[in-house]
Amino acid sequence: MNQTLFIPNELSFTLFNLDHNSTHVTFNVISNQISSFCPLCHFSTTKIHSRYIRTIGDLPVSGKIVQLKLHVRKFFCENTNCTRKIFTERFKHQLNSYGRRFERLNEQLSSMGLELGGNVAHRISKLSSVKISASTILRLIVKCPIPDIKLPKIIGVDDWAFKKRLKYGTIIVDLETNEVIDLLPDREATTLTNWLREPSSVETVSRDRSSTYASGITQASDKIIQIADRWHILKNLTEGFERFLNTQRGSLRDISVELSQKQQFASENMVQVPLIIAKKDTSIKGRYYDNFLKVKELQSDGVSKRKIAKLLKMSRNTINRYWNRTSFLPKVNHKKSNILDFEDYLIKRWQQGEQNVKNLFEEIKEQGFKNDIKIVYELVRQYPKINFEPVPDAVKIKYYSSQQLSIWLSTFRKDWSEEWPQTYLEKLLEDNPIINKVRKVVLDFRRLMKEKEGDKLAAWCDEVINDNDENIKGFAKGILNDFQAVYQSFISSWSNGPVEGQVNRLKNIKRQMYGRAGFELLRKRMVITSQS
Ligand SMILES: [Zn+2]
Repeated sequence: MNQTLFIPNELSFTLFNLDHNSTHVTFNVISNQISSFCPLCHFSTTKIHSRYIRTIGDLPVSGKIVQLKLHVRKFFCENTNCTRKIFTERFKHQLNSYGRRFERLNEQLSSMGLELGGNVAHRISKLSSVKISASTILRLIVKCPIPDIKLPKIIGVDDWAFKKRLKYGTIIVDLETNEVIDLLPDREATTLTNWLREPSSVETVSRDRSSTYASGITQASDKIIQIADRWHILKNLTEGFERFLNTQRGSLRDISVELSQKQQFASENMVQVPLIIAKKDTSIKGRYYDNFLKVKELQSDGVSKRKIAKLLKMSRNTINRYWNRTSFLPKVNHKKSNILDFEDYLIKRWQQGEQNVKNLFEEIKEQGFKNDIKIVYELVRQYPKINFEPVPDAVKIKYYSSQQLSIWLSTFRKDWSEEWPQTYLEKLLEDNPIINKVRKVVLDFRRLMKEKEGDKLAAWCDEVINDNDENIKGFAKGILNDFQAVYQSFISSWSNGPVEGQVNRLKNIKRQMYGRAGFELLRKRMVITSQS
């Protein structure tokens, strides 16, 4: 049999016996080396001390587990100056002194581990007749050397969460090749400085907006061009816009309510009934109620305000107050309750057939009514009871978060999606000039960035700082503090996009490892698999 088919060529072994059963193939081999070199003094020696057998794993054959029973020797070191007296036989290829597998098997297992992670590699190697534990595969990965990497000129850096909110690392990507070059164990400025000084080939770095990386890069060399990442800049801008919108919550809410009411009463289901005229409620006593009824009666007869005031000897103010009111509010102090803001809505809902006080209370509470159900009851008890079938449901009010709105409003009108609440957005801009003003500078900034008009950036900052909302001012001040890097982002075509992609890949790998990923293991998997 030709033993070179099974045993690595570079090893001088003789096969003298072959065993096999249903699961295993065992090659019994003996080493042909006459001499071996001492690991300490490298003196070559032939004097044999003893013999023993090593068991070595190899790549499977015909679906069977392969092992070599290797007959080897121990030697005396014959160099009298050497402190080592006895040593085990050494081989130059495929096998180190205590290795339990040939290098070619280790290489295959670590390649599988790098691509698939320890657990999957373990399951697949088991299927292909190699016995090895997941943790041994992980140890093989850690031992893998990082291949020589071409020194990069243009890199992107960003942080990634090793343990969310507790521990972060830094990822470094070559932006010209999109390959991960290295992972750093933290996100400290000095760690990045030291890394940048090491190969010293880097000319340009794209980074986030944090001052940490900025100072780390400056410390390494002030000749390195820094580019603030456009995505991060726009994120800061939208966040500033969002904080501003938070100050406009009342306006955002009012428009939601108004539009939903419009929709409610534009509905075809609305049952038109005659306008309610307050009915006499015998449980309400007192001079004010009598006056109210008298005014309403004369009003329905078409008598003018001035005449009514004269006839009833009442002030014009009181007549005016009653004029547009439909119902009398006996006990409520109007100034303390905002119930009158909802009177119109309540009457319309009543006319539609919703005559359940609790439901009405819930509906106006959703719209901003701030008081007790009793007050609603006081008001609607004067409305005439009529039976309607069916009662249309109240339209659910759509509120939008400042965060969502900041994204929609930071978009040019021509790019608005049909799925967005366009009527709402348009009304918001129509009704609220401050939002309009802030939005204008936000869109200006985006336009300058898109059209790479870096020369107009300083003027934009000045304009905003002179006259705009505090939150957008804060954003502009941040730009001035990091001006050169932001300016570069306007004129350069490099960005951190590829870095984000690699951070996602890293997250996937980390997830596969079920939280058992040590830093060195992650680093090897990211860097080595990125190169191949
Ligand atoms: Zn020696």
